[in-house]
Amino acid sequence: MNFNTKVLHGRAVKKYAEGSTLPPISQVSAFQHDSAEEMARVFEHKAAGYAYSRVANPTVAALEQRINELEGGNAAVACASGMTAVTLSLLNFLGAGDEIIAGSNLYGGTIDLFEDLTKFGITTRFVPHLTPEALEPLINERTKAVFGEILCNPSLEIMDVRRVSEYVHLKGLPLVVDATTVTPYLFHPIEEGADVVIHSTTKYINGSGNSIGGIIVDAARFDWDFDRFEGLSGYRKFGKLAYTMRLRTDIWDNIGGCMAPMTAFLTTIGLETLGIRMERICETAYTLAKALAEIPEIEVCYPLLSENPYRELAERQLGGRGGGLLTFRAGSKETAFRILNSLNYAIRATSIGDVRTLVIHPQSTLYVRATREQQEAAQVYDDTIRISVGLEDAEDLICDFTEAIRTSL
Ligand SMILES: *Cc1c(COP(=O)(O)O)cnc(C)c1O
Repeated sequence: MNFNTKVLHGRAVKKYAEGSTLPPISQVSAFQHDSAEEMARVFEHKAAGYAYSRVANPTVAALEQRINELEGGNAAVACASGMTAVTLSLLNFLGAGDEIIAGSNLYGGTIDLFEDLTKFGITTRFVPHLTPEALEPLINERTKAVFGEILCNPSLEIMDVRRVSEYVHLKGLPLVVDATTVTPYLFHPIEEGADVVIHSTTKYINGSGNSIGGIIVDAARFDWDFDRFEGLSGYRKFGKLAYTMRLRTDIWDNIGGCMAPMTAFLTTIGLETLGIRMERICETAYTLAKALAEIPEIEVCYPLLSENPYRELAERQLGGRGGGLLTFRAGSKETAFRILNSLNYAIRATSIGDVRTLVIHPQSTLYVRATREQQEAAQVYDDTIRISVGLEDAEDLICDFTEAIRTSL
């Protein structure tokens, strides 16, 4: 089955109650049981069934199974937000004294989170690009995870997932990736060796910008050394499934990181059109990038442009597609703001992956809490504009941007 068929007819797509074509919305907090004995069996995980929506919910489970199948994972856990997914994907096996190595070109919220984690004794060491050469000098006995984005938001640098995963596995470390910007349509990180994949489903997977959500997908292939990864040692008997078992029955459940049933339903609807949206979005983004690259006063960044250093990786890893984001440098902050204020179709809003084209000045918004050094490491300058391309017609977007730029220079 190819992607679009699999989304609609894969193994994970069940016959839902009463012949519903979509999973019914189980908008409840608790589930009733025929007897006290049955209830006890459900709580002991000895019988299938639902008890409480913070722990498991059928509408949420339907989404988890479908995304898990598309990612080629072993298990998936849906979360309240992409940030919940990033946080719990790491706290599930880290503790005070542990170190993470991460790319410095991460999503602004993730950089802020890693700062927060220092107060709990978890230190992050940043490298400009996640490569074996950059990781080598930073790995020590406290290092417990390598974390990176595949197509970085907004620097648009691309991680060579196979190369990085082969290297970190040699060092006994798991590779955790944020695949939000590539989606399961453009790339399958697990096939290339990633151990844990997270998504902000708020973005492309939902697609319509109608709810906040996230998901953690576990490949369940990593060989956990339970002496080194003490956090998982209580789950030793589950072997490679230790990660998911701890997540579900411990930290995710106890923190209350669950996705709401209505969000799962809305996200499932979005997921069903992910492939066709991504195809169109990537095509329009490339067309717009080429058109804007003709304007000499601005500097455009898009992975498929001929001078882009990640072009070859986009060809090889992303099937020749460059994703739905592009950025450009307008020359000055004032010019950037004038351009943003002159657009008619592209709307000034945070977020990415919407059906509408969204624009933002990352430095004064997403990176406002970051230091100047952190901003520059993420390639966020005072004149950078990020565009998240939507489903409008390419010709109209080209007119909108070229006109706004022309009148603002
Ligand atoms: C938006 C985003 C997040 C955070 O997701 P939320 O759903 O907003 O919590 C994490 N990583 C990337 C790459 C993102 O774009």
